[in-house]
Amino acid sequence: MNQPIATAKDSDADTNEAIANDIVSRVRSVVQTSDFVALHEPNLGDIEQRYVADCVASGWVSSVGKYVDQFEQDLARYTGSKFAVATVNGTAALHVSLLLAGVERDDEVICPALSFVATANAISYCGAIPHFVDTEYRTLGMDAGKLATYLSEITSVDGDRLINRVTGRRISAIVPMHTLGHSVDMQALQATATTFGLPIVEDAAESLGTFCNGQHTGTFGVAGALSFNGNKIMTTGGGGAILTNDEATAARAKHLTTTAKQPHPWRYVHDEIAFNYRMPNLNAAMGCAQLERFPDFRERKQSLANRYRSQFANSQSANFVDQWEGESSNFWLNAILLARTPNSPLSRRDTVLQKTNEAGLMTRPMWELLSDLPIYSTCPRSDLAVSRDIAERTVCLPSSVGLVPPAR
Ligand SMILES: *Cc1c(COP(=O)(O)O)cnc(C)c1O
Repeated sequence: MNQPIATAKDSDADTNEAIANDIVSRVRSVVQTSDFVALHEPNLGDIEQRYVADCVASGWVSSVGKYVDQFEQDLARYTGSKFAVATVNGTAALHVSLLLAGVERDDEVICPALSFVATANAISYCGAIPHFVDTEYRTLGMDAGKLATYLSEITSVDGDRLINRVTGRRISAIVPMHTLGHSVDMQALQATATTFGLPIVEDAAESLGTFCNGQHTGTFGVAGALSFNGNKIMTTGGGGAILTNDEATAARAKHLTTTAKQPHPWRYVHDEIAFNYRMPNLNAAMGCAQLERFPDFRERKQSLANRYRSQFANSQSANFVDQWEGESSNFWLNAILLARTPNSPLSRRDTVLQKTNEAGLMTRPMWELLSDLPIYSTCPRSDLAVSRDIAERTVCLPSSVGLVPPAR
């Protein structure tokens, strides 16, 4: 998927406008409404109301309660992870996942430049430094082959430590991110990680319901982080979860996301500085309801992706960002990759963004490359040509579950 398509002949303003208008009409046909269409809205119904009301009535609205336990069990069952630990948000889940993988102050952590800022922020919370690497067109995720070549060029091994020879710092983990819900090629990445002895922590914030060669994203490494923010495929208002297959890691995740209190009937003895990141029962009540409905959500996302795929199948100016052969995607956020232009890709992309938003069809670009943000401008990075090209030509399209009627 996502191979660059033929270069368009002309990039002047008229051409850009014509292309943008064509895209507006294709997206209009997909969404099947003339109303304003949001980028991604939560889908909440009777079950959510019932569980949340029950939670309020029970008085157990805070960090202990039956819904948190239930939600964790349901998540583990759905993802096939042995354990799930619910947190206040996805960023917190990622922060603790990095600690679980052994990331320490002054380490460098490999992550994609093409990601949401939370990926790099969580690394910073550990006192570590994001080290930005490139993405591949095929998956929109970390390019495992290019990473292996890069690491062999810049690192040396010191005992069991992998050292960046340029900065002298230890590289201690790899954080792939499953962009827009599309899986990284995890088998390829695992091979690279094994070669260099690095643990994997997955940023699976966007990929609940996405499988890579039959295995749920977020379950390949030491730990994986999910998000249930309001814009994700399902929501708990705010929330996240840590997935892990290792019992000791799960116990430590629980310890660090609460207050690291030693079990005792009345004494307050805390054996670590922990984070109080636990998901409240009130949010978990909504999560239980959303997870019950999740198979339906996922099917509706597939239908919406099918509509976009066929609408853009004969477009000369944009390719639908489709799943690759090894994954079964949740299609969290549908997107198109605009054709290359001889001159300014940004002016074409921005014309498309402007026209679609003016037409009441909410669209968004990808993120600015994290390596370009002033807060991360001094961080180490590899060549990022593909990340930059994708960021400059991608437009994210309305993708709410509610755009497709329920199956029954
Ligand atoms: C949403 C998101 C997060 C953070 O999740 P929150 O629940 O908002 O903290 C992290 N990484 C990526 C890629 C995301 O899209």
